[in-house]
Amino acid sequence: MTRHYNYLAIGAGSGGIASANRAAMRGAKAAVIEAKAVGGTCVNVGCVPKKVMWYGAHIAEAIKYSNSYGFDLTQQGFNWATLVQHREAYIERIHGAYQRGFASNGVDLIEGFARFVDKNTVEVNGELISADHITIAVGGRPSRPNIPGAELGIDSDGFFALTTQPTKAVVVGAGYIAVEIAGVLHALGTDTHLLIRGDRPLRSFDTDITDALLSRMQQDKLQLHTQSDVVKVEAAAGDRLTVHLKDGSILFNVDCLIWAIGREPATDKINLAAAGVKTDEQGYIRTDKYQNTNVSGIYAVGDITGEAQLTPVAVKAGRMLAERLFNKNMPDAHMDYDLIPTVVFSHPPIGTIGLTEAEAITKYGKEQIKVYRSSFAAMYNAITPHRALSTFKLVCQGENEKVVGLHGIGEGMDEVLQGFAVAIKMGATKADFDATVALHPTSAEEFVTMR
Ligand code: NDP
Repeated sequence: MTRHYNYLAIGAGSGGIASANRAAMRGAKAAVIEAKAVGGTCVNVGCVPKKVMWYGAHIAEAIKYSNSYGFDLTQQGFNWATLVQHREAYIERIHGAYQRGFASNGVDLIEGFARFVDKNTVEVNGELISADHITIAVGGRPSRPNIPGAELGIDSDGFFALTTQPTKAVVVGAGYIAVEIAGVLHALGTDTHLLIRGDRPLRSFDTDITDALLSRMQQDKLQLHTQSDVVKVEAAAGDRLTVHLKDGSILFNVDCLIWAIGREPATDKINLAAAGVKTDEQGYIRTDKYQNTNVSGIYAVGDITGEAQLTPVAVKAGRMLAERLFNKNMPDAHMDYDLIPTVVFSHPPIGTIGLTEAEAITKYGKEQIKVYRSSFAAMYNAITPHRALSTFKLVCQGENEKVVGLHGIGEGMDEVLQGFAVAIKMGATKADFDATVALHPTSAEEFVTMR
């Protein structure tokens, strides 16, 4: 006996959940299959626990500089386990909210691991489940290097499983995850070493922003090791690790090594071959702009597509797909992948949308591009000894100075970006920015007062 649905999402992460709920709201009989915790990477081992840890780090920094604001505080300690316990309780509440959402929309949550049997059918826990439309939203998992002793380290999943605070941590990688985890550990008091194989982290970001990040790391004494390749890891006495680098240098007495060198698609075990779904060499399922795979009736959304691996992208792509399939008024619904804003929860946060200066010059030519920059001490820390600079930047193109890139690093940049992203998505020019009255005193006002 085969259970049949109109719409089936494999993977109850951001994309799978959003698409199944929307499909059900549009009248489809929908289900979502999940082998682990509902919510996927974002809720369980990504955005949500990361942001909670980042807030914890924020409080540590506030305490550090609180005496400039007149407080006479002595920090009695920091209990990592308490923070983790409250974080996990919050995640449990989110799980509950998802379950209630499924119940009210009439979406079935099927717990188990799905494998394709044919293009319309999967097998879960020995049961066959078929659907008119199947969306693959299985996401990804952290990658590990192929070096001796790599298994002695943990990855971002392992970081969120830590119940005690590491004393000496080595974080390897140069992307979002490495920068975010290293920043949190450092601010919370762990002796933190960030190892990158190049000259700077976040290489694809605008260099004014990464220059500012580098100087903040230096000012905050986060130990950044550039041109550093790990070649071997060894276990040492007392559950410690010894980390060997290519240049012969060695890091001793490490109690936590975290690999943050990228993520890989989780397509290898779902038997895509049975459905005839093709992947690229890395295992990503590439789709057209409608999230169609090469097989009709099978779609892919989220990290598994290898496109802009961000929760809101997966959510939007999933919802648009469901609208296209089940809402006769939206036959052309699809996610617009142009101008996606993104934030890195570094210290301080980075926000960016559109082209970097270098990308804009490559695309339009140097004479077409005008750049505005502002570096300033945000009031929040201007009265403390931690008088760090924020850096904001606009990249404008053409005679009417259309804003094609907006980048910033500084207190509050994570919240500043969203509104500007709307303006840029609408095609705002520098003159539109200038015509907007500033909010004073804020950091955001720098974007409308640049000369
Ligand atoms: P990324 O792909 O962003 O970065 C990994 C980086 O690690 C590479 O770019 C590379 O940088 C470096 N690297 C790769 N291999 C090695 C190696 N063998 N040794 C040392 N360094 C290596 O991956 P992440 O895992 O950080 O993040 C994955 C994605 O998840 C992000 O791209 C983002 O889309 C999303 N994400 C978003 C967040 C947010 O929105 N705030 C937070 C976290 C993740 P290089 O070549 O310069 O050495």
